[in-house]
Amino acid sequence: MTVIPVVIVGAGPVGLLLAGELGRARVPVVVVERLADPMTESRAGQLSTLTAELLHERGLDVLLGEAAHEPRAHFAGLGLDLSGLDSAYQGSWKVPQYRTEAVLAEYARRWGATVLRGYELTGLTAGPGHVVCQLRGPAGRQRLDAGFVVGCDGADSSVRRLWNFPVSAAASTRELLRADVIGLRIRDRRFERRPAGLAVAATRAGVTRVMVHVAGQPVTNRVGPPEFGEVVRAWAVVTGEDLSSGTPVWLDAFHNSRGQVGAYRRGRVLLAGDAAHWHLPIGGQALNVGLQDAVNLGWKLAATVHGWAAPGLLDSYHDERHPVAARVLDYVTAQETLLLGGAEVEPLRAILAELVGLRSVRDHLAGTAANLTDRWGPPGPSPVGRRATTLRLRTDSGPLPLADTEPVIVRLRSGADRPHHRTVRTVHARCDGGPPLDTTALLLRPDGYIAWAGDDEEGLEQAIEKLLWVEGRKENARL
Ligand SMILES: Cc1cc2nc3c(=O)[nH]c(=O)nc-3n(C[C@H](O)[C@H](O)[C@H](O)COP(=O)(O)OP(=O)(O)OC[C@H]3O[C@@H](n4cnc5c(N)ncnc54)[C@H](O)[C@@H]3O)c2cc1C
Repeated sequence: MTVIPVVIVGAGPVGLLLAGELGRARVPVVVVERLADPMTESRAGQLSTLTAELLHERGLDVLLGEAAHEPRAHFAGLGLDLSGLDSAYQGSWKVPQYRTEAVLAEYARRWGATVLRGYELTGLTAGPGHVVCQLRGPAGRQRLDAGFVVGCDGADSSVRRLWNFPVSAAASTRELLRADVIGLRIRDRRFERRPAGLAVAATRAGVTRVMVHVAGQPVTNRVGPPEFGEVVRAWAVVTGEDLSSGTPVWLDAFHNSRGQVGAYRRGRVLLAGDAAHWHLPIGGQALNVGLQDAVNLGWKLAATVHGWAAPGLLDSYHDERHPVAARVLDYVTAQETLLLGGAEVEPLRAILAELVGLRSVRDHLAGTAANLTDRWGPPGPSPVGRRATTLRLRTDSGPLPLADTEPVIVRLRSGADRPHHRTVRTVHARCDGGPPLDTTALLLRPDGYIAWAGDDEEGLEQAIEKLLWVEGRKENARL
């Protein structure tokens, strides 16, 4: 029996990035995807500052090169300037999701991942030391045995359902319709709140994207996209304008159901992206948080498969990523209330507009929109739990790469007296940015986060033992 170390279910952006991360760390991986061909919709078209940094660190600048750069974001429609963020990639990067997926598919392929298209996961059962995946594919039923399974299969995740992940969720209560239409002459509007609902319109290169919500209208149970007539009627109710002369080229409806699993890992099965957390796509967070899940999980799962993960390292994926998505759910729910609520939210909007006038509030919201405020270290100024990006670490041969496959010790002062570590690679570097660091060494994780900062070798040793299983025993064996 051949056991594939990792099977990923779903070749959306999150599954493809995770496949590339595992491949880069020399873990054989198979991705199963029920769609025979890649998706062609624009969907989530906004990459955040942190996502842009991660793409750059993985050599995926081609995607940023073709993206439209926007130095702004918004919170509930209130504009935020992102140009002051401390990042070489400040701002939002606008690129249709099908392009993101195409670039990530190439990344996964380049690092040796196998993508099986036209294969749907239909069953998951526990075997001795592995998981049995039942698939329905072009040649009928098939079985794959996996050391670990990661469900990156979207908001309606089969993996989540088949493996009984605990979920806390709220059903949908509001629906939005949207359409790309040609031949329209209507004015652009960002988030126009009207007594009857919300209207958004933007025309680019002759195509008008309209999005509309009719206040108080129940959510329709749909099996496909809405008819254009529905969009025309909703737009007329909210704005009094007539869209019927236009020709639709794309129609979509989405709603505000939201939820999150209570555990990102159950034994040999994990979830990432929309499979683990889902919400109304306002504020452009879902795709970004999912891609960041993949980067957090990739090296930890690789370390577990290779047998060098410290006990608890794989569980730290849940510990670090669950709070991030929980916070996003709160932010999205607050924005939904402020954008789609009725007259009763006007006083709240007025106060928020006042607060956004304060520099510290603006900076906080801008940092949150850019995904730069998430950290897992101790409170206060300690660099632990932050990404090393702002330190701009440089070695004699150039910037220190922040996307590695194993941890690295960074010596910040010449330390000929310091012995090289027996298991962890050491580099010498200096900081070209950020506040002065009162420390002589850092322990850098493969995802560019600082795991430890200090001067004492004992502290460094303890930090290493939180990442590495020093005796080299496999965590697999204890499952
Ligand atoms: C129609 C639509 C419109 C959206 N619009 C926006 C938007 O405007 N803005 C925004 O920010 N976000 C939007 N989103 C959300 C955004 O696309 C997601 O956050 C993002 O795609 C999450 O990526 P993912 O890889 O986690 O999941 P997905 O992109 O959903 O990928 C999951 C993949 O798993 C596959 N799959 C599912 N079940 C199985 C199975 N049993 N076996 C094998 N394969 C399976 C699916 O075919 C799919 O390819 C939209 C989503 C949808 C579906």
